[in-house]
Amino acid sequence: MKCYKQNCPGSEHNELITYAVRPGGRVMVINHVPAMVCDFCGATAFSYETSLQLEHIRYGELEPLGSVPLYDYAQAFPERLREKLVANGYGTVNMTELPPFKCRLPGHPGVYQQETIVYQRCRNGQLVVVDHVPRLVCNICTDTLYEEQTLRQLDKLLESDIAPSGAVPLYDFAQGAEAQSDKELATVGK
Ligand SMILES: [Zn+2]
Ligand SMILES: [Zn+2]
Repeated sequence: MKCYKQNCPGSEHNELITYAVRPGGRVMVINHVPAMVCDFCGATAFSYETSLQLEHIRYGELEPLGSVPLYDYAQAFPERLREKLVANGYGTVNMTELPPFKCRLPGHPGVYQQETIVYQRCRNGQLVVVDHVPRLVCNICTDTLYEEQTLRQLDKLLESDIAPSGAVPLYDFAQGAEAQSDKELATVGK
């Protein structure tokens, strides 16, 4: 299926992804989430049912299955992020000193702006997450890119023996389905 983004030449395929989110300021990781992923721009879309199930996990106060080590990019590489960016934590920040960098998707006038996200990676078969990782996002089509320097620094951080700064809860997508059917059963049982 063609990518849902206008002008993107890519096509979408089904994939199980690891999803790191920050509902209410608290980082959590959800594994095995079914998603449609574009092979060109990496855009990720969820079906309506999947979104509902993710909501149950985000706000359902379920027991996590385990935990994932958390690193902080801003702490490891403070020179990459200005105070403002760190203070804002999560979200889009206009890096006015960056020259406008035109979007790579053909035929539209978007430019990339910097934002920070929760990045996840598999390291020696184990999931780890890094908070406050900067990436570039197009202000029109939301196409995203990581700068080479950022990726090199992430390699460096995750190959080093720096201790993680904490841990975040790990959930499995299937847990959302359990919560949903529990609720349904409770309603039926009344
Ligand atoms: Zn795409
Ligand atoms: Zn764009």
